[in-house]
This record gives sequence, C-alpha cells and structure tokens, in this order.
Amino acid sequence: MSAGGIPDKVLRNGDLIIKLEEIAKDTALLNGVLMRTKDTPNSPEVVNYAPFTLFPSPVPRALFQQALAVQTHFNRLVDRISQNPSFLEEALASTIKVDDFTARLFKIYRQVLQEPQSQSIVLGLNRSDYMLDQSEDGNVSLKQIEINTIAASFGGLSSRTPDVHRHILRVANRMDELKQILDNNPAAGLAKGLAKAWELYGSEKAVVMFLVEDIQRNIYDHRFVENELWKRNIPVIRRQFDEVYKTGSLDENKRLFVDGQEVAIVYFRNGYMPNNYSSEQSWEARLMIERSLAVKCPNISTHLAGTKKIQQELARPGVLERFFPDEPETVAQIRDTFAGLYTLDLGDDGDRAVALALANPDLYVLKPQREGGGNNIYGAEIRQVLEGMKDSSERTAYILMDKIKPRPVHNYLLREGTPLRLSTCLSELGVFGAYVRKGTDMVLNECVGHLLRTKSSEHADGGVAAGVAVLDNPLLV
Ligand code: ADP
Ligand code: MG
Ligand code: MG
Repeated sequence: MSAGGIPDKVLRNGDLIIKLEEIAKDTALLNGVLMRTKDTPNSPEVVNYAPFTLFPSPVPRALFQQALAVQTHFNRLVDRISQNPSFLEEALASTIKVDDFTARLFKIYRQVLQEPQSQSIVLGLNRSDYMLDQSEDGNVSLKQIEINTIAASFGGLSSRTPDVHRHILRVANRMDELKQILDNNPAAGLAKGLAKAWELYGSEKAVVMFLVEDIQRNIYDHRFVENELWKRNIPVIRRQFDEVYKTGSLDENKRLFVDGQEVAIVYFRNGYMPNNYSSEQSWEARLMIERSLAVKCPNISTHLAGTKKIQQELARPGVLERFFPDEPETVAQIRDTFAGLYTLDLGDDGDRAVALALANPDLYVLKPQREGGGNNIYGAEIRQVLEGMKDSSERTAYILMDKIKPRPVHNYLLREGTPLRLSTCLSELGVFGAYVRKGTDMVLNECVGHLLRTKSSEHADGGVAAGVAVLDNPLLV
C-alpha cells in the first residue's frame, strides 16, 4: 500500500521507526511546527509540536501540478461570484430560508450592499481542497472537496514542514526521495497579498488586524504570516470580536479605528462558524467591519461565495460559463475538478438527489453550510437524517456530494499522547490562492503554496484543528 511512496519494508522496520519518532518530534519543535496545548491555549509557556505524519505521503505529480495550475482560475471565480449580487441572491435563496447562520451573514451582505461602497480594494486569501479519487478501473483524478474563502489555515505551519520531512528522510537514509519534497511557503505568499492590499490602502500608520478566536491554540500558524508583515514594517494587531465591539468605531469617512489605531485590513481568522459569534455584540462588530473602509479579507460577499451551496450551484450545467463567457478552457479546467454535486432544493432535482442518497448512502456525503470539520453526514446516518426531513424545506440547508474515495496509504500519525502505530491513511491536498483587486484591476493573482493533511481512514471527517487530520507533505511520485 505504498502507492509509490515510502516502501513497506521501511514503514515496518520497528527499530528505525522508534528511532525516527523522537527525532521527528524534536525536528518539528526545532522548525516551529508548533501548537499551544489544549490545557493552556492562551499561553506560550508550554507548547508542543503540531500533529504531523512521520513520512511524507505519495501524491502523483501530474495531479499536484493540475491543482496548482487551476488555482488562479479559482481566485478569479470566487472574486467574480462575490461581485454578482443576483447570482448570490438566487443561489442562496433556499438556503437562507432554513439556515440561520447563512441567513445572518446574508443579512449583513444585503445591508452593506445598500450603502455606497467607498472601498475598491479587495483581498482574497483562500484554500481550495482536493482529494484524489480512485475509480474502479484504477484511474485517479483530482476532485475538489471545497474552497475555503475565510480563515483558511495552516499556511504558516506548512511553510515549515518540508524541512522536517527532509530531515527524517535523511536520517532514514532515504536521500533519493529528498527531491520529491517541494519547498513551500504559503506564509510568505499570504503575507504578500496582505502587504499589497495594505500598500494600496495607503496609510503608513494603519495596522493589519487579525480577527481571532478566544482560544488560540493555533497561534503559531498565524504568527508565521504576521511576522512576515512585521518584517516589511507593517504593524499587526490581534483582536477578538468583543474587543472590536468595545473599542472600535468608524469616523465620518468610515475609517475603522480599534483602540485608537486605524485599521487598513481586517484579516479574519475567526467568524466562520456560529459559535464564533458568542453574542449579538459579535454580530455588531462584524457589521461595523463590513461597513468600514478597511479592506476585509474576506469581505462578506466573498465569505458567502465560499459556501457549500454556491459550490453546488457552480456545478450545474452552464453556470461556470456565466462567469467566464469567453474562456472555455478556464471553464473546462475548473469543471474538471468538480465531483458530482446535487441540490436538495424542493422539486424534481432535489427529490432525485434524495432518492439517490437513500438508495446508496455510502456513495455520498451530506453537507450542511458549515466550516471547521466534523459537520458532514455519512453512510447510514444519511438515511436517518434524510428520512427525517424528506419532503421538508429543512433539507435545503444541505447539499449532497459524491463521496470521493482516495487510495489509502500507510503512514504514522504523530500526535501528543498517542502511541505510535502504522495507520491506513487518506490525504487531502489544499492549494492556497491570493489575489488583490483594485476596482476592476486585478493587481495580484497567484497560487502561493500548498498543504497536505492526512488522517486515519477510520475517520470520515475532520481537520487538523478538529484533532483528526495531521500535517503532511506531498512526496511527488
Ligand atoms: P469543512 O468546511 O468543515 O472543512 P469539508 O467539505 O472540507 O468541510 O468536509 C470536511 C471533511 O470531510 C473533509 O476534510 C474530508 O475529509 C471529508 N469530506 C468532505 N467532502 C467529502 C467528499 N465528497 N468525499 C469524501 N470525503 C469528504
Ligand atoms: Mg471549509
Ligand atoms: Mg474542509
């Protein structure tokens, strides 16, 4: 089950693995692949390595390149969706009737749409995630799982993991494989986008504000991006919604001030799920930010463009063509990455999707409009949930998606307090995109790096932050 990756005889060499475990963990610590602990998430006194794989996992080079190559198209697609109110209205109409969270975001969107827009600078930092689907005839293809347009994480830590795996390979005497691990620096690329937008905002004293959670376990991932900004003499502050509510205000030109400092950019690393808004004050802070002259990363329409319902709408025939009327090749390149996606709206199409899922639940994933991992429904539970809301509009809070079946590989998942064992694993490849637009002018549009996350195949769902997946690197094969 090595699929061209690290051979089984190495994976099963017990003495070597025991030796590598300690070296791997020390090397992660030395390279800053860090997380704060569960018990003290807001203190730097005790930290640990972020969970990661002992070895890099194999990824076919051509599919990896395909994912990188399509990223600037996804950047433009998200940006175009965000500028199309009638599409957003239409696509999300059924969802916002039943999903309170999306409805709440949509309300803010409608509200700011009514006001004159003085800020023409748009900054997008996203991550498009893929799995490699293996069909029954053995053919492997790149399939998009989702695109994250808000708070896409691990660009910082994944900038440091290549050196960790390279060191492990050296110690394991696998020199030939070193060149199969690429350099990766999303931290620099994300910072480049932030720096460009800050420059265009045009006020040297204005700060970049990271909008953060109250629990800051993953702060080192942020710090890598933050420190890239400081290196360019761009000041950064970190604030939570309630702090923005208490100390924030807009001046007569809608400039945003927080604690007396003008904010050029609000970079959301929070605000993507309902419990990030602990009170009405959080929502008021979000609204104040959206109404302000600060560059929002993302702005509310770009946030909405990343919902699963939009992803499903894009997969309908003819929709991509609306966004790229003169670019059939762009359309083809994007569509090539789409898995089967099905509406659950009331009507014939929705009824057909329900029937498909009830007949073969193992072939599908049922997805609500949520982020952060652990929200999807699989297997027998799909039946249960769908039967409970079969002909009700409740079902329109979800979309249905073909289940991607990647080829499993063996690896070791290193995680605090977990004894080492060889696991059967599945990987998910993320690609980071950055773009900056001023008015109608795209001033920056780049693919800025990648992320590989790997989890035990026992888990259907869940990311690194959710404690399921761990950081990895593609070993290009
Ligand atoms: P979230 O926004 O919560 O991260 P995702 O769409 O990424 O939502 O789903 C979470 C996880 O569920 C993914 O990381 C992946 O492991 C799994 N998953 C999602 N969609 C599929 C799919 N179509 N096939 C297989 N696994 C999936
Ligand atoms: Mg997501
Ligand atoms: Mg995801």
